[in-house]
Amino acid sequence: MDKLINWLSSGEMLTKSEFKDLIDGYTPENAEKLAFLANNKRQQIFSNNIYIRGLIEFTNYCKNNCYYCGIRRDNKNVSRYRLTKEDILPCCDKGYKLGFRTFVLQGGEDNFFTDDKLCEIISEIKNLYPDCAVTLSIGERTLESYQKLFNAGADRYLLRHETANDKHYSSLHPRELTLSNRIKCLENLKSIGYQVGCGFMVGSPNQTNEFLAEDLYFLQQFRPHMVGIGPFIPQKDTPFANQTAGTLEKTLYLLSIIRLMLPDVLLPATTALGTIHPKGREMGILSGANVIMPNLSPEIVRGKYTLYDNKLYTGDEAAENLKLLREKLKTINCKVYIGRGDSPKI
Ligand code: SAH
Repeated sequence: MDKLINWLSSGEMLTKSEFKDLIDGYTPENAEKLAFLANNKRQQIFSNNIYIRGLIEFTNYCKNNCYYCGIRRDNKNVSRYRLTKEDILPCCDKGYKLGFRTFVLQGGEDNFFTDDKLCEIISEIKNLYPDCAVTLSIGERTLESYQKLFNAGADRYLLRHETANDKHYSSLHPRELTLSNRIKCLENLKSIGYQVGCGFMVGSPNQTNEFLAEDLYFLQQFRPHMVGIGPFIPQKDTPFANQTAGTLEKTLYLLSIIRLMLPDVLLPATTALGTIHPKGREMGILSGANVIMPNLSPEIVRGKYTLYDNKLYTGDEAAENLKLLREKLKTINCKVYIGRGDSPKI
């Protein structure tokens, strides 16, 4: 195990079976060792700066039916909403004043938002806030569409691959969604010039350590600029309502491995991590994460973007409570960084 940890932290490539041994080798002691190294690595690259992103969840309509996701098409208990440009711009204004220099537009796959509509929103944000980055997280689209959105000014794109194993992918998604298309999208995004993020849920139904090893191997090959991981949390109106949630320990362990494998990666301590433990996000940072994405959506819709049960949107998850976040970060010797917070790779 020590040999594997040394290889990982000295930048050596690992095989799938070595990644599996690393994950199988979880013990609280090994987790502590990895977190110590990963936290040091984070400090080496980013000092004590934590990058913040204002998350605007602008539509919860979705044409897809992913088995894990609370805003899946067949969930009739979601009160659906769409934000207009006139709703979104005041969010950016408020966010800018608070110190946010990245706005993340996330949503379900909603055909209402054509390329033209999205381009108009993106270019208006970029005109009004030229010193800000725009990140999109709106699922699978064509190469042409990704290119148009990029030309309109989008800088980054988050598209979790969800799992790098074909069979596992089909157990989480209906037939019309395929891993190969997901990967194709990620490759297209990268070729266009986006800073690209992939990632997966920890503890999703049917996930094994072998599959997780394939996820890590995929990250090692693909070398994304960002990686989003968080525990799977069941949502009561989905086919996975009765499945068990992913754990804090395993998520932290994987965060540390990812930080060591991709030292300059942008790695959020996610809302899902904060949802399963009150100190989840602080522990995420101490395990190697360097990004936090508070909720900047209009307050009236925050309770409606219900990817999973009990999703946080108050306290330091709320963008307007940046002061609270600052205080929490101070207790772990970190601070909020005001700036775009681009990938050091570009
Ligand atoms: N439609 C966009 C955004 C999806 S929501 C897209 O396809 O990329 C963002 C992420 O939330 C998903 O990629 C998924 O990994 C995560 N998510 C969805 N349901 C979840 C659940 N029940 N528990 C934890 N994370 C979940």
